[in-house]
Amino acid sequence: MRQLRRWSRICVAFLAFVTACSSDTTGQSNSDQEPVSSGVTVVVNANVYTVDANQGWAEAFAYDEAGVIIAVGAEADVRAVAGEGPTVIDAGDKMVLPGFQDAHVHVPEAGINAEMCFFPRGLTLSDYEALAADCDGEQGESDWVRAAGASLFDLRDTDESPLAVLDRAVPDRPAIVLDDLGHAVWTNTLGLEAAGIRPDDPDPQGGVFHRDASGHLSGLLLEDAQQLVRNAAAPDDETNYRGLLLAMEELAANGVTTVSDAGGYWGQNHPAAWERALAEGTLTVRAANSLYVYPGLPIDEQLAELEARFSNDSDWLRFDTAKVYVDGILDLGTASLLGPYDVPVDEHYPSGFNYFTPEQLSTYVNELHTIGYRISFHVIGDKAVRDALDVIEAIDDNAQSIADRRHRTTHTYLVHPDDLPRFAEIGVIADFQQSADAVATDYHEFLAEFVGDQAFDLIPTAQLIEANATVTLSSDWDAGPLPPLGTIERSLTRDANAVPDLETALAMHTIDAAYALGHHDTTGSIEVGKFADYVVLQHNLFDLDPADIDDTTILFTVVAGTPIHQDLAFTP
Ligand SMILES: [Zn+2]
Repeated sequence: MRQLRRWSRICVAFLAFVTACSSDTTGQSNSDQEPVSSGVTVVVNANVYTVDANQGWAEAFAYDEAGVIIAVGAEADVRAVAGEGPTVIDAGDKMVLPGFQDAHVHVPEAGINAEMCFFPRGLTLSDYEALAADCDGEQGESDWVRAAGASLFDLRDTDESPLAVLDRAVPDRPAIVLDDLGHAVWTNTLGLEAAGIRPDDPDPQGGVFHRDASGHLSGLLLEDAQQLVRNAAAPDDETNYRGLLLAMEELAANGVTTVSDAGGYWGQNHPAAWERALAEGTLTVRAANSLYVYPGLPIDEQLAELEARFSNDSDWLRFDTAKVYVDGILDLGTASLLGPYDVPVDEHYPSGFNYFTPEQLSTYVNELHTIGYRISFHVIGDKAVRDALDVIEAIDDNAQSIADRRHRTTHTYLVHPDDLPRFAEIGVIADFQQSADAVATDYHEFLAEFVGDQAFDLIPTAQLIEANATVTLSSDWDAGPLPPLGTIERSLTRDANAVPDLETALAMHTIDAAYALGHHDTTGSIEVGKFADYVVLQHNLFDLDPADIDDTTILFTVVAGTPIHQDLAFTP
């Protein structure tokens, strides 16, 4: 497996630049096999679920040395196209699927956060204090003490200020504790100073400096206010790159071959890690990444930066998506609602919170659309959904061009019934995650106290399928679980708003996601002319009870014909 992985990375480098693996590298890994004259690979003895409506199932497929599929169908027909002496992969009568595509996943962040101290969710302030003191001891040399994973909304109404507690636990250097959902950080006084935040500063655009009962900074920074500390505490480029490599191994092990990085924090230099992976031939996933739109930056300055960073001409790495936060999250009371929260989470924003003024949002969306960006709108509340649909509909371009760009909403938690048909009408894609926490009925019961009965329609996946919208499934890893098979299982088995059938759920995590990411002409199905991006699964998912789908092992993951993950139980 180790050998395979090393070989595959070398090979990907060649694929990216000269669209062929050198005989030298293939020779290393195939030294005890027959010489390959044609450079063609055939996959046989397979149950290929192609996700191609014209093909359905197939027995075999073949691809050339550039990893492009040249035949799909019955084995005899595929072998006839493949010609003499192809490399043969015997799939062992297993199910083969196109590689999964994840339209919302925090790739470098997941790897970077994994190197930090881990703070579990739901602890008390004093438990976190002890963990912070331990973390301070463990991270002896570093400039900041860094931890991730805590749920910070429990810390808002504590008797003692979280700031004082973290000052006591980490007295000598700045500290940052990232929340589990990406919407808040907790820092100490040295952290506030390093970020340039003074006690009397007003809240920044799109963010909240949380304060205790006496009006003093609490050390909790909500929504975009957290970026001031995240930027100041950003790990170095080497750490970012290591995080990306670690995360890509997880993606490969879970059968993910195309992503859109959802963080896009160019203020923390994340794009440089991706560029380095492409340059060094270590990129093992196609990426149509987003770039974060910072609410606090001057508009002209930021648009110039984003225009310079735009790219969409590579099969491997594009920065062609802008991540625009419309609102926050329900748990912090920052999700933007059409009416007030039944029980206000924070009296300062009784109906929730918006990152941008309507004028700013309109300017950004129009200008980014003009540059060529597709826009991924973070939306949770029903007003945020409506704001996104309104601003897309009002783009100064014709309706067809707007639909062709495939702007999308992500999370898409609460959709007012009047807005359901608008997705299909305007051509906006609805992207959903299905974490166990978020689709659980007891969570909806809890939320109903704050937002009323609409909580029972949270994440209205089935409703938007019925409304003929294009819908996709994604993970939001590491804020949610990564495995696509788990997401698919939960999408089918949740109590309400379940996806009607496995065919639809698979399409949502393959071809429909490819469509959303602008990769559907070359990926998303096993089809002649597309890249051989595929997975081999332990079980045929159609033979399983849907509740068992997530127990299926990913045996083999291949991108552009190059293996990037192989389970020990699988010998091709
Ligand atoms: Zn996210």
